[in-house]
Amino acid sequence: MAEEITEEIEETPVETFDVNYACLRCGTIVSNTELSRLPEIKCICGFRVFTKVRPPVVKTVKAI
Ligand SMILES: [Zn+2]
Repeated sequence: MAEEITEEIEETPVETFDVNYACLRCGTIVSNTELSRLPEIKCICGFRVFTKVRPPVVKTVKAI
């Protein structure tokens, strides 16, 4: 008798903390999800130094 262990895998929508990185050399912006897919953190140009790009905080201010 085989025991079946069923684990419930919740398929929750991935909370994407979309952090973008900009290559210091060519300025190509890569998201962290794209970077995690790569075998090594490297830009298409071959440079490996990235700076974090903060998404612009959108503030809606109602003008009266
Ligand atoms: Zn680059």
